[in-house]
Amino acid sequence: MSHDAQVIILGAGPVGLAAATLLASEGVQVAIIDRVRIPIHHPRASHVDDETVRIMQALGLAHLEPDFVHYDSGSCYRIYDAHDRVVMEMPWGQLTEQGWYGDNQFFQPDVENTLRGRLQTSSSVATWLGWEVELAEQDEHGTTVAIRNVRTGARRQLTAGYLIAADGVRSRGRALIGGEIENFNASHRSLILDVFELVPSDKVRETFTRATAPNAVTCVPSARGIVRFEFMLTDADDVSDFENPERWYELLTPFYRPGDYRIERADVYAWDAVVPEEWRKGRVMIAGDAAHEMPPHMGQGMCSGLRDAINLAWKLALVIKGEAAEALLDTYATERRPHARAYTQAAGAAANAVAFLTAFPGDPNEPLPAAHVDLPEPRLGPGLHDGEPAPAGALSIQPFLADGRRLDDVVGYKFAVIGDADVIAAVTDATKAAWQRLDAVVLTEYPAQLQAWLQARGAKAEIVRPDRYLLGLAKDAADLDRLTKAMGLRDHRVPSAMAAD
Ligand SMILES: Cc1cc2nc3c(=O)[nH]c(=O)nc-3n(C[C@H](O)[C@H](O)[C@H](O)COP(=O)(O)OP(=O)(O)OC[C@H]3O[C@@H](n4cnc5c(N)ncnc54)[C@H](O)[C@@H]3O)c2cc1C
Repeated sequence: MSHDAQVIILGAGPVGLAAATLLASEGVQVAIIDRVRIPIHHPRASHVDDETVRIMQALGLAHLEPDFVHYDSGSCYRIYDAHDRVVMEMPWGQLTEQGWYGDNQFFQPDVENTLRGRLQTSSSVATWLGWEVELAEQDEHGTTVAIRNVRTGARRQLTAGYLIAADGVRSRGRALIGGEIENFNASHRSLILDVFELVPSDKVRETFTRATAPNAVTCVPSARGIVRFEFMLTDADDVSDFENPERWYELLTPFYRPGDYRIERADVYAWDAVVPEEWRKGRVMIAGDAAHEMPPHMGQGMCSGLRDAINLAWKLALVIKGEAAEALLDTYATERRPHARAYTQAAGAAANAVAFLTAFPGDPNEPLPAAHVDLPEPRLGPGLHDGEPAPAGALSIQPFLADGRRLDDVVGYKFAVIGDADVIAAVTDATKAAWQRLDAVVLTEYPAQLQAWLQARGAKAEIVRPDRYLLGLAKDAADLDRLTKAMGLRDHRVPSAMAAD
């Protein structure tokens, strides 16, 4: 049956754009749909972690990174209680084993605009910007989406083999999957103000949350000279009051003298901390905010969404190319959901702690209230690495090469087999054939940092997946054979030309 595309993506936010970019890099034909013709300019993500910058590197966005804002060694994100006592402290990450800074401030529209521009000129991608999705459905042959042009009212239908719903918190695609929604009971509302400083204020040089009544405030010095303010509303607050510009200037009075700043963007948001139980049904998968909604207190919503995109795209490409069975897509949900769930739970707990401290400031002479927030364990849930010992299922490291490039610049969005030449040379022909079919990059010369890292774990080689997670470590060729076979690629036959070698 012929379709308009192999994959339809609902939503050209950062997650839909990332999935489209990665699928297109695999030669998959994509149609991406969004009701807005230019990216949303409301205040949204400002923080990304090192793993996310590594994903941006895979998306060809590394050139944006020099404009990101990093923090000095020793600087922290601090939460203060109403009595000005530090309740929680999270150190900002310095340069990490991922090859990037642990914490970065960036400007979300830069990412979306760049990706949209690239997709516009890609021969693998049809962009439907300014088109609203009215209906999405699936049957055993594929998925169908009914769309309407928001300006002209023209209607069309698009069909594809698969559908990724990256259409945000009010996802239509999610309705195709159904199921229960896990709720961490952390519903909050905040006024967000993005302020451009004309005269820098010494009151906003560090990143903090102050749980002072009536409205806790979070302040984040961000990229492009912008300082992000988040004022948490109480249950008694009326949203319309916080949508009133008079109120905005009043709230900023403790931080700036009049005329020393201008407000760039303002919005009141309502957040929940929720994760649907099901992420895939048949040919439909959800990703990004459609798959996990969280308060912004960990700066992890978009980070989690980009992890979804990079996890899903290579798997879907392998299935579409006939290299892997559809069962591979099951590992998308089993690997990603627990990971995203941990961040959602932590973000919900942080938001609840701030609300609690604001509502119940306590006695300054009493010991500090407990407001501990566990940082999530960054390992995938059960999936392709099952049965392999840690660090399988965790992120691989990205060392710098002698010429100053980073490892992923050589690998690209592909599998990488990296290790000692004699170990790699001794694998079976079936393994070699599988690597060839995966278009895996095999490296036998690699940085000393990685050699030491492998050695410290008793390994001589590693297999890294395109999403940079470790399939596993190998001490010998038999381990590499086992890891490769466990992937369950569809055809493990040896091409006759190779068998003869
Ligand atoms: C104030 C704020 C601060 C934040 N801070 C951070 C942070 O510091 N770090 C971080 O990682 N994350 C942060 N986030 C979260 C981050 O912005 C989101 O997680 C991210 O934008 C989600 O991307 P997405 O592509 O999944 O969804 P979205 O960005 O919501 O994109 C969905 C797209 O789908 C389109 N769409 C929806 N329905 C339809 C339809 N029916 N038809 C056509 N198109 C449709 C929409 O127009 C939209 O473009 C923050 C969010 C907010 C609001």
